[in-house]
Amino acid sequence: MFHLVITACLAAEPNLCAERLLPTPDPLTEAACHMGAEGRIAAWIAMHPELLPHDWRCAPSGDLRALALSEIVPGVWVHAGQPEPVTPANGGDIANLGVVIGDRVAVIDPGGSRAIGEGLYAAIRQITDKPVAHVILTHMHPDHIYGAEVFAEAGAEIIAHPNLASGLERRAEVWAETVPREAGALAMLGTRAVLPDRTIAAPEVIDLGGATLRLAPMATAHTDNDMTVLHLESGTLFTGDLVFVGLTPSLDGSLTGWLDWLDHAPAPLPHRIVPGHGPATVEWETGTAPLRAYLTALADQTRAAIRAGKAMGEAVAHVGKDQGDGWNGFDEINARNAVTAFKELEWE
Ligand SMILES: [Zn+2]
Repeated sequence: MFHLVITACLAAEPNLCAERLLPTPDPLTEAACHMGAEGRIAAWIAMHPELLPHDWRCAPSGDLRALALSEIVPGVWVHAGQPEPVTPANGGDIANLGVVIGDRVAVIDPGGSRAIGEGLYAAIRQITDKPVAHVILTHMHPDHIYGAEVFAEAGAEIIAHPNLASGLERRAEVWAETVPREAGALAMLGTRAVLPDRTIAAPEVIDLGGATLRLAPMATAHTDNDMTVLHLESGTLFTGDLVFVGLTPSLDGSLTGWLDWLDHAPAPLPHRIVPGHGPATVEWETGTAPLRAYLTALADQTRAAIRAGKAMGEAVAHVGKDQGDGWNGFDEINARNAVTAFKELEWE
């Protein structure tokens, strides 16, 4: 199987160039890759008008730059991102990404940039030529979904919670500025958010042929568009950012809703969970305990400040501050969480 790889440069900054992988729904021979290249490059650049094409080549799967994937149980693979805030050093590769391979392939979160999505696609292509049929977005945050366009181009159906599109559209402008500032313009070159092809409002089973996924949209918790994915054969639950390990949890939905989700452990308990950030797998109890402790402290301290009649500015200066042990990026994320928690709980 061959792949078209182009070198593209930012029109506004012609020295800023990177290789971009342009996938196709059907596998290409080397001859077919060369034959259609010019037309496919023109079509792709039309969708990415901020870029200028510079050069191109056709590469076999084995030559592509691939993310590290590890098989946690047969047929279930995870790329573990760095559990830290986005920096130019990690290029936005901070979230855990899942791949489930049956007769068809499903991706659970395609990663935080076009480049990361391409790296995940390349890693899949180094394992199998089977079609990537579905990409499931666990929620709207850029570090989880900005790689989706790669898989849309590869013919995958993008599936998400019904609230994801409106949440993404509400934030798109802000994220278009903040994410390249955090990750670096080069890391984000060619990155474009895509909206889901299909949303699901109730649990749904997807049969990949020899592997079965149960998708479950959730009530508002980490965000208002969280979705979990259970691999039924192995009892592996992809929680998205409903579970953070190591990276400070960011509250962008409902604190009481998130605590409520944690209080209702899935039954039967999954054999393992893949958290949104942290190790590739953890057990439910040990994996969720630090998160639960932090969110409980955030709620308790916020309520105490509100009861004491503190104004928001005064309250958020200290709420949660004693909870930073073991969490990366704590001060900045906790400060934002304290504001979100105060706004939610002051109306109780
Ligand atoms: Zn998130």
